[in-house]
Amino acid sequence: MAKILCVLYPDPQAGYPPTYARDGIPTIVRYANGQSAPMPSGPLGFKPGELVGCVSGALGLRAYLEKLGHELIVTSDKEGPDSTFEQHLPEAEVVISQPFWPAYLTAERIAKARRLKLAITAGIGSDHVDLEAAARAHFTVAEVTGSNSVSVAEHAVMLILALVRNYLPAHGIAACGVWNIADCVARSYDVEGMHFGTIGAGRIGMAVLRRLAPFGLHLHYTDPHRLSAQIEKELNLTFHSDAESLVRSVDIIDLHMPLYPSTEHFFDDAMFAKMKRGAYLVNTARGKLIERDAVVRALTSGHLAGYAGDVWFPQPAPADHPWRTMPFNGMTPHISGSTLSAQARYAAGTLEILESYFGGTPIREEYLIIDGGRLAGTGAESYKLT
Ligand code: NDP
Repeated sequence: MAKILCVLYPDPQAGYPPTYARDGIPTIVRYANGQSAPMPSGPLGFKPGELVGCVSGALGLRAYLEKLGHELIVTSDKEGPDSTFEQHLPEAEVVISQPFWPAYLTAERIAKARRLKLAITAGIGSDHVDLEAAARAHFTVAEVTGSNSVSVAEHAVMLILALVRNYLPAHGIAACGVWNIADCVARSYDVEGMHFGTIGAGRIGMAVLRRLAPFGLHLHYTDPHRLSAQIEKELNLTFHSDAESLVRSVDIIDLHMPLYPSTEHFFDDAMFAKMKRGAYLVNTARGKLIERDAVVRALTSGHLAGYAGDVWFPQPAPADHPWRTMPFNGMTPHISGSTLSAQARYAAGTLEILESYFGGTPIREEYLIIDGGRLAGTGAESYKLT
């Protein structure tokens, strides 16, 4: 019998289950790159479209795991040595966590997790795990690659339009009962004709480029691996061999690269200084890609026209985190990859990974980040340990 320790965000404040706005979600069987959506062999323990990312939803895993005789602990209490997470960690064989409410698996915690064999990210982005320590400890790290890429891409496109068109302040003006059109439009522009650049053109970055192409923007990208000439031609892309060149050239910068040690604080005062005055920055990748106070300074001075995203460090962000109140921000809690549509896919993918693990069959290559003491699968393609 194994102990499975699952850390999820708390239930809705009004109670669980919520009243749903719709009766179901479309079925997605294949992603844009041809990868098939999660295909567990057993039944899902939930109806697609239900809220399963919170504690009471338990990713729909309870019936499957308990039928096999395993113990499932689900908690949102994850910080500090007295937390439920740390209390159960030494006995846990599998840890499941979501980037939205990450159970940080630091080197110190990994040293305590003597029985840990598998850490699953229910979603994408395993930077909340110290990957070097995980490799040394020889447990597997897997994530549900592709499960919420389109969810995040749609969100990024929404944030780009919201910032450039000044949507959030204009909505605030309508909601307070007045009609100050001049105040709404004094910072409102069309994106048409602007230059847009993504740093990272993997699954999410590519999906954003494809969605923005019809808006008449000039599209730029940088990535360690250049896209094919065919895709560059189809989308009329300008490739930059480094981020600095892209940052100097574009009006809107969008981040879609992973966080690993050498991308931490990629955007500091020096990088902001290279941006055009009046540029916008959108970040749905990871909060730590940006130096926290440098973005506040760039917005306050007027050099940066707007910043929007949903990723912070730490998560949950403290009540006095300056990104909550800095000027011209469009921040939300970390939500872009946890729509009800995304939850159905990453919960099914988590079940698929558990079925492989307990059934003794290989976990899909594209789900692997660390395996056998080294970067593997998607981890070997997109992450670095330094
Ligand atoms: P992919 O692995 O498909 O793409 C990441 C891309 O970034 C790859 O093409 C990779 O290059 C590129 N890259 C790596 N290092 C650099 C660098 N230094 N500069 C520029 N590009 C770089 O991942 P996804 O697109 O699926 O996800 C990207 C990130 O988005 C995740 O790591 C995660 O942090 C975040 N995310 C956020 C979510 C949210 O809810 N807000 C949900 C899902 C993901 P190559 O492989 O060519 O070497």
